[in-house]
Amino acid sequence: MKSIKKQLMLSILVTVCLSTAIMVGITYYVLKEELDELFDENMVQISHAIAVHDFSPDSVFLLNDEKKRRHLKGEEEFLIQIWSNKNLTYSSLPALELPYQGEGGVRTIIFDDQKWRYYGLSKDDWLIQVSQPIPVRHTVIWEIYYEILFPMFAQLPILLGIIWYLVGYGFKPLKQISVSIKQRSSTFLDKLSEDNVPQEISAIVRALNSLLEKLENSIKIQRRFTADAAHELRTPLTAVSLQLGILRRAKTEQERDDAIKELHKGVDRSTHLVLQLLELARQEPDAMQTVWEECDLQVLLQSLVEDYTALAQQKNIDLKIIAIEKAQIYGDKNALAIMIGNLINNAILYTQEGGKVYLYLSCNPNNITLNIADNGPGIPEDKKNRIFDRFYRLAGTKTNGSGLGLSIVKTIAERHGIRISLEDGLDGVGSTFKLIFTS
Ligand code: ADP
Repeated sequence: MKSIKKQLMLSILVTVCLSTAIMVGITYYVLKEELDELFDENMVQISHAIAVHDFSPDSVFLLNDEKKRRHLKGEEEFLIQIWSNKNLTYSSLPALELPYQGEGGVRTIIFDDQKWRYYGLSKDDWLIQVSQPIPVRHTVIWEIYYEILFPMFAQLPILLGIIWYLVGYGFKPLKQISVSIKQRSSTFLDKLSEDNVPQEISAIVRALNSLLEKLENSIKIQRRFTADAAHELRTPLTAVSLQLGILRRAKTEQERDDAIKELHKGVDRSTHLVLQLLELARQEPDAMQTVWEECDLQVLLQSLVEDYTALAQQKNIDLKIIAIEKAQIYGDKNALAIMIGNLINNAILYTQEGGKVYLYLSCNPNNITLNIADNGPGIPEDKKNRIFDRFYRLAGTKTNGSGLGLSIVKTIAERHGIRISLEDGLDGVGSTFKLIFTS
């Protein structure tokens, strides 16, 4: 499993190593430049200090005692030669026979198979030569360099240790939240506290809280749904059981036939209710994965009208499409068919024999409107808000039903962002269900 802490540490480690490497490089370069400058300046100073002395043509310098030594002791020593008329009169290390070089600013020369820095200063017939092998300088640079680098590298593990601890400390709130979630039971869905939560985590906490809220709501809805369903199923099932009793007690053929007819009706009602309940549960958001696709509303409407023509004919209802335009909508085709089908079904069901059910589908650049209008009994103004509630049926409704059809319509409409409004129906009576599909 990926660990943010480890990833963070790895990136810090890489960054620290890279920056240390860059620092080491820069330090080496700067140190070398500065020391070279310093040593060169030393050579100039030494030669000028010697030149201050008054040399007379007969000045005699004693040759150095250490006649055999060929190596300088270290960076503090220079090879000093004094030449008179190109004759060597003094050498600090006679064994090192650096030839006459002549006057000139500090420069690099090759002597004894190695590079030297050289400075020559002339005074009358005299020439003072001060020189130093470059490798001697390098030794000094490296010595100083090591002294700087050691503490630099020594602090690395300490620095990384502190960062490791601090990163761990920074992740503490996350751990606390995960512990508090772990300790919860499936019924404890209270929001997580957002106090003292670091800014970076507060977005996660807020998202979790909103998820918990949704979860709590959906659990509430489910509980209410189960309770309502159980309550509503009780009525038709009680009726079925009563009718079974009547059937058992029936003495004549006629009584038995009547009881069986009633029993059928009761079973049909229960079946219808169960099917509607299942459909409603299926249409709940997040209940199932649905396929969303481009749907041709014109085609859908035409096929639905064909499906309901038989039912309309039974009641001699004039079911037809009055106006239709080409309209495309992105959605769940099956759900859309159920939604529009329910509205057409209701219009046919609740409109009196010989009535009218007309459909209008129109399009404009902003939206698509579908009107399902009838000239039935209509819906009283004060009940318009309630008819979409679960199990709600208008008082006095004689037709069999469950009161779930419009709840299903509402759920599907909400899922598709469709606005539903209720207006007057045909010929100033009945009702029109207006669906506005916004894209
Ligand atoms: P059901 O049709 O199973 O009773 P619905 O949720 O589809 O359940 O409808 C709820 C109630 O709204 C119905 O019982 C009916 O009283 C009323 N209703 C629905 N559509 C119409 C309509 N087109 N005309 C008159 N009343 C209607």
